Amino acid sequence: MTRHVTDLDTVRAQLEALQAHDLPTHGGRTLAYVYDSGLADVDELGREALAQFASSNGLDPTAFPSLLQMENDLVAAAARLLDGYGPDVEAVGTVTSGGTESLLLAVLAARDAYPHISNPQMVLPTTIHAGFLKAAHYFGVEPVLVDVDPQTFRADPEAMRAAVTDRTILLAASAPSYAHGVVDPIPEIAAIATESGARCHVDACIGGWVLPYLTDADRAAVPAWTFAVPGVSSISVDLHKYAYTPKGVSLLLHRTPELRRTQYFALASWPGYTMLNSTMQSTKSGGQLAAAWAVTTAIGESGYASLARQARSGAVALATAIGPDWEGGIEHLRVAVEPDSTLVAVQADSTCDIFTIADEMLSRGWYVQPQMAYRSMPPTLHLTVSAATEPGVEDFVTALAESVAAAVEAGPIEVDPGLAAAATALDPSTLDDAAFDGLLELAGLAGEEGLALPEKMAPVNALLNVAPAPLREALLIAFLDRLQRPSR
Ligand SMILES: *Cc1c(COP(=O)(O)O)cnc(C)c1O
Repeated sequence: MTRHVTDLDTVRAQLEALQAHDLPTHGGRTLAYVYDSGLADVDELGREALAQFASSNGLDPTAFPSLLQMENDLVAAAARLLDGYGPDVEAVGTVTSGGTESLLLAVLAARDAYPHISNPQMVLPTTIHAGFLKAAHYFGVEPVLVDVDPQTFRADPEAMRAAVTDRTILLAASAPSYAHGVVDPIPEIAAIATESGARCHVDACIGGWVLPYLTDADRAAVPAWTFAVPGVSSISVDLHKYAYTPKGVSLLLHRTPELRRTQYFALASWPGYTMLNSTMQSTKSGGQLAAAWAVTTAIGESGYASLARQARSGAVALATAIGPDWEGGIEHLRVAVEPDSTLVAVQADSTCDIFTIADEMLSRGWYVQPQMAYRSMPPTLHLTVSAATEPGVEDFVTALAESVAAAVEAGPIEVDPGLAAAATALDPSTLDDAAFDGLLELAGLAGEEGLALPEKMAPVNALLNVAPAPLREALLIAFLDRLQRPSR
């Protein structure tokens, strides 16, 4: 007797149809969100492991010792990569669901290590990943943001030192930063943390599985950032980025087991099992962990060295083709800064609109990610270069030059000054649902029949770009809220 109501092949066909409008995850033409090694057989292995362990539960390592073994193997591999074993280092760690969870736990562990500080602060460069501000919001740690050097986009250690108080529990820095792809001066920042008795987290979510595998020359060109630097107390590294594993796996490493202690949560005061968690999740699938174990074991150190160098040479080729100033390379564009790793940030001059370039790239089959203006930092396009992108760099550059020409032809987007002024004057906390409906329509994020994403995102992005951050946040929340209303 069949116990299902829809024929299984019909469901499979529905899944395929659902996926048809998604960005491609493979092929190297999506330069954000996804990472492609170009190794189809390894991807297949990862999917097999994902399926094989999908129902195993990481809640209890004694019930599923396979998961504990694989977690320890992954942490050990990362510790070796990040100089986590030595005379004054005995790195330990945890597999988490992603970079954000690793950052959340690093902040939580730091906060709870200083129980006598009732209004804790953390000192962060303005280029630090938004996950730190999310952690600040969730855990009641006040973020003290310190401007980065406006030319190099790197953290300014002296300015960070000046921001330290007796309430500082943590300083953080990136290796490299997501938005601009540069490595912060971590030795100086870690030394300030040591002096002030605070922790120091290195966010290597995106670079942790790349930088150690680059050539000697490339590695020598960036400051030290691993546990070899005294004072670095924790490091986050995402495996679902440049370890090319399926989504849902990151690592949070601490310099010593003692530093990890406040990350744990145990609860015996209820009638069920004693809850004992190392992460935010309790029940968690073993699938992602097993997939990460399988993929990293298969690729191995020499495989990652060649993938990292391939992605790096793609990034360098892109940055060289775009050029460091407006005239050379692709006219009207320049890289915001020379890339330290595999990420490139691109600026456009005032003859064209940068978000139009993103639209034009999409119409040519390439996804590049708009990044909006923030403080003194101009809007940019973000390019995450995967190994699989490298063979296509020439095509990318051709498409980019065409896109710039089209954007110059279309001219800069003028946001109605009245609208921009009104946006600046609005206090989003006073707006009700009806007001947001009106604003979404004004912003071009809703039409007659409710929500509709326009063909061209550039006008929407141009308006959001001039909106103050709190309004941008409120508008996008209103937008998401309306997206997440199933039709009855
Ligand atoms: C991607 C990234 C994160 C956040 O990771 P998620 O996996 O998206 O949660 C944090 N820091 C940096 C530098 C990143 O690139």
